[in-house]
Amino acid sequence: MIKLYYEEPYLKETEATITAIEGNRVFFDKSIFYPEGGGQPGDIGTFGIYRIIDTQKAGEESAHIFNDTEGLKVGQKGVLKLDWEHRYAFMKRHSAQHLLSSVFFKTLGTGTLAVHLGDEYVTIELDRKDIEEKELLRVEGIANFLVRQSLKIEQKDLLRSEAEALHMRRSIKVSDEVVKVVFIACQDAVACGGVHLSNTNEIGEISFYDVEHIRGHVRTIWLIDSQAEKMRRENLSIVKELSTLLSAPREEIIDALKARLDEADGLKHSMRTLYSSMARKEALLISDDYSIHFTDLPLDEFRSVLSSENKRRDVLILRDGEKKEFLYIGDEGHFTELKKILSLKGGGRNGIYQGSFLEDCKAIAALAKGVIDGFKG
Ligand SMILES: [Zn+2]
Repeated sequence: MIKLYYEEPYLKETEATITAIEGNRVFFDKSIFYPEGGGQPGDIGTFGIYRIIDTQKAGEESAHIFNDTEGLKVGQKGVLKLDWEHRYAFMKRHSAQHLLSSVFFKTLGTGTLAVHLGDEYVTIELDRKDIEEKELLRVEGIANFLVRQSLKIEQKDLLRSEAEALHMRRSIKVSDEVVKVVFIACQDAVACGGVHLSNTNEIGEISFYDVEHIRGHVRTIWLIDSQAEKMRRENLSIVKELSTLLSAPREEIIDALKARLDEADGLKHSMRTLYSSMARKEALLISDDYSIHFTDLPLDEFRSVLSSENKRRDVLILRDGEKKEFLYIGDEGHFTELKKILSLKGGGRNGIYQGSFLEDCKAIAALAKGVIDGFKG
């Protein structure tokens, strides 16, 4: 198969003849469809009215994955057409990755261990445990400068010995006698079988996004061209919305948000104090043994009042709300029986038991009344 994607990486369509069909995998005499490899996904597009949903390596051939091959036959001629938007976006991301890896190597002496080109991000895993943000911003600045310098990108077929003599930043991963080497002017040379742009000025914006730690290494995350533009627009819209919500100009958003959070913390604290005091008052009113009570308040205060000096016997408090909770003060044997009959979840010791239940609060109370009455002996 003639690999037109290497000879003419900008060719968007070509006539081709089917040489074999294996299920939904179709083979051609020549192709502009790049098969998945080196972190770059397989091309997608069409063959006449048929859709090609992926392209995979198959030895020296490319398997074009069709969604349907009904009616196709060997020897059939037609037009292979790339989803150019998809391919071009990945040529940009792939070329940007070469450029970034070269800057990491030349500027920081840091090698690239692995790369991934995704629909959202490009990731570059580095042979370092950690990296400072100022180093990443420096790499970002230099990479964008090199984009603006319009450096020529070329892929050349070199003899293995010629390629090895270049002492490239990354070892040659293939065992072939002829090696494809990608040059970015005099900035970088690396063995790579992917498809690339012909000039760095086509890459567009390169934007540092985030950093993760994985397998003892640092993985840097980048946004390229439309990905960077999309993120910039989304960030702008978030800032605008925050500014409106907080009634604060852009530069005061952080302070305004901190003030609101402090205020919310203060209110939460006051609410807790108020709830505790209300719960304490309610708890002090409970004077009967063998009784059932309802509350909307947190149960902690009930626990401390009911389990202290006025320790009551066989008192069940039910808290209704989003989460249904109970508190039981009494004999352990009684609790075990109650728990079983009412299907309560939870436990405790020394006469204090707490947990949750799923049934309706009133239904639980009605059931509990009969059981607790039975404890009176
Ligand atoms: Zn490459």
